[in-house]
Amino acid sequence: MSDSDECVQCSNQVEDVYHIFGFCPAAYKFWEEINIMSNFPDFFFLNFYDWMLAHIKSDVMIKGRRWSLLFVILLDNLWRNKNDVIFNNMHLSAKEIILRALNQVKITSVN
Ligand SMILES: [Zn+2]
Repeated sequence: MSDSDECVQCSNQVEDVYHIFGFCPAAYKFWEEINIMSNFPDFFFLNFYDWMLAHIKSDVMIKGRRWSLLFVILLDNLWRNKNDVIFNNMHLSAKEIILRALNQVKITSVN
C-alpha cells in the first residue's frame, strides 16, 4: 500500500472520486465501451453530486437494464476492479468489467 495520492492505474493523476469514476483512462475507456455519451451527452460535465443524482434517478433503459441500477452496479465494479489491480494484481478489460456488471443486473421486462 502506498501513501501517495497518485492513481495506481495511470500513475499520473491525483486519485479523487472524479478521477476514479470518470477521468482515469481506465474509467474513461470503460464509459466509452458502454457508449455512455450517446445516452448522456453531459456525462463528464456535471459535478459529482449532480452526476450521481442524475443517474440514480434516471428511468432510461440500457442493454435491457434499468440504468439507475446498472449505473451503481457499474460504479461498484469499477471500484472493485481498482482494488483488484492494487491487491490482487488482477487486470480485467473494460469489456470484462461491463459483462460482469450486466450479469449482476437482471434484464428488466418493459411492459
Ligand atoms: Zn488513473
